[in-house]
Amino acid sequence: MKRIVISGGAGFIGSHLCERLLREGHNVVCLDNYFTGCRENIEHLLDDPNFELVEHDLIDPYHTEADEIYNLACPASPVYYQHDPIKTIKTSVLGAIHMLGMAKRNGARILQASTSEVYGDPQVHPQPESYWGNVNPIGLRACYDEGKRCAESLFFSYRMQHGLNVKIIRIFNTYGPKMNLEDGRVVSNFIVQALLGRPITIYGDGSQTRSFQYVDDLIEGMVRMMASPDDFLGPVNIGNPGEFTMLELAGLVIGLTGSGSHIEFKPLPEDDPHQRRPDITLAREHLGGWQPTVQLEEGLRKTIAYFEELLRKHGVRA
Ligand code: NAD
Ligand code: UDP
Repeated sequence: MKRIVISGGAGFIGSHLCERLLREGHNVVCLDNYFTGCRENIEHLLDDPNFELVEHDLIDPYHTEADEIYNLACPASPVYYQHDPIKTIKTSVLGAIHMLGMAKRNGARILQASTSEVYGDPQVHPQPESYWGNVNPIGLRACYDEGKRCAESLFFSYRMQHGLNVKIIRIFNTYGPKMNLEDGRVVSNFIVQALLGRPITIYGDGSQTRSFQYVDDLIEGMVRMMASPDDFLGPVNIGNPGEFTMLELAGLVIGLTGSGSHIEFKPLPEDDPHQRRPDITLAREHLGGWQPTVQLEEGLRKTIAYFEELLRKHGVRA
């Protein structure tokens, strides 16, 4: 049994990871300030004696024993990370420093949840890890993109200077149950809009692409990365190479929900990447043949069922 700290453990991805690691018999400590996460995501775990929930803001240091650390704390939806950009940078940068400090004191392994956003609006397609990216350092998305890029630098600096056992994954657009109703990212927006019969909001002309990964595939990749040999640090892309335009996604969601919603076009936000798709060769080679197993339609069905239930629970009606 390991003692595993998960920062951002009450969030969408973090709560799935808490469940998975508890199921494997580990002791899990979840650190979260509930900015975008919520107790509801992890409430069912509170009776488990192996689960510890700590309300903590990662911009302040935190000390506890740990064998492994997953650093996930950071708002991930553009709506929330742009709400207080300075706080977003502090969370990425100070949060990484504090978690790396914890890893150093404990001799723990530490994994950073980085992002495909480090590639910015990519000029290389699909994106391999060797691509350094095309990021606007002063735009609306910079607080997130540069914060995450700096965190990657910090991880490698702690490795070079202190020999820490670090791992970095670059996560591509991930969706699934436990996303917040008001998360603001495209999959949850479209599903909630479709279920409520509201207009489906497409930003721009809808020709931009993303590659959508179901959360279970990501969790499997994360756990495999943490368990990989010491000399494999990454960064490694974890995503589903299936690539879709936002118009295609809207069509799929409307079809699967049987919704009568129509499409409403809205302005494209500044610096919105035109295309995104992971090259997952490295993950396949180093993570025991890891590859996504849930295709978009199947994952959307599960996510739609989750939001239907959530809307019922919250008493929200069309
Ligand atoms: P999320 O917003 O649901 O989860 C983030 C969690 O971090 C929330 O529980 C939030 O309350 C917590 N948090 C934020 N600021 C904090 C702070 N200062 N102190 C303590 N806790 C704080 O988002 P998610 O999709 O679960 O993302 C988790 C991680 O994965 C993030 O680091 C994100 O950048 C990364 N990621 C996610 C995706 C994706 O598509 N979901 C893609 C790339 C990277
Ligand atoms: N998007 C959209 N309608 C929405 C929300 C998002 O068309 O209601 C678009 C957004 O402009 C982007 C894509 O969907 O091109 C993915 O957006 P999201 O916020 O999910 O993630 P990110 O842009 O960070 O990949």
